[in-house]
Amino acid sequence: MLKGRKEKLSKKICADEISYYLDILKEPIVDYDCAILCKKSNKNIPYCCKSNNAVPLLYKTEYEYLRTLGDLWLEWIPKNKDDRELLDYARDDQIFAECKGIKYCVREQRSITCRVFPLEPYIDLRGVFVALTFMESFLQEDKNTGTKCPLALHKEDIRQEFIDTHFLFWQNILLRLPDEYRIYKHASASIRKFNKNNNTEPIVFFPSWNKNIKSMHGYLNG
Ligand code: SF4
Ligand code: SF4
Repeated sequence: MLKGRKEKLSKKICADEISYYLDILKEPIVDYDCAILCKKSNKNIPYCCKSNNAVPLLYKTEYEYLRTLGDLWLEWIPKNKDDRELLDYARDDQIFAECKGIKYCVREQRSITCRVFPLEPYIDLRGVFVALTFMESFLQEDKNTGTKCPLALHKEDIRQEFIDTHFLFWQNILLRLPDEYRIYKHASASIRKFNKNNNTEPIVFFPSWNKNIKSMHGYLNG
């Protein structure tokens, strides 16, 4: 910062940043509609598009921005005690929201959560963001449908263009919002614990520029 310059910096994500992020997050995850993998066992609705399975958490600015594009999104209203407890997970700059349903989905109005699902940042043992990984909770079984997100069984189908652009998005977010960095550092440690207990390796997706850098591979597990 320049000497004598004391302007107050806003931590809040602005509407133009949201627009920029949504633009980065346009790449399809696979070359086909992955809903064919999960909707049959889920009453013909993609597993990740049912708020019973996953309630999207939006930045408040993102919610306001999407509401300027159309009426797809509404504030999510908790229906029971468990739902109300979920509200505690939203920070002051976030809001739980739900869309009107798959019938009304407009590709350009999908939230950041819709676009990044089911991958999130993987922070290695050193605390360095090196790759993307599956959200741990969506690798588990669902007691009603048997499967949550089955893409984990088709990981070779995930497009490198998706990984590269999403890595850049997360790099921005993790620098911009220290809370998000802490959340994913904790989540990655939990993945490592699971792998240690099960004698397995974490599933990670490197951006193309990290693939051949040895140090990016050396601290994934431990
Ligand atoms: S991301 Fe996973 S849960 Fe969502 S539609 Fe694709 S396969 Fe189904
Ligand atoms: S906006 Fe579209 S992609 Fe997102 S949850 Fe709703 S139906 Fe699914």
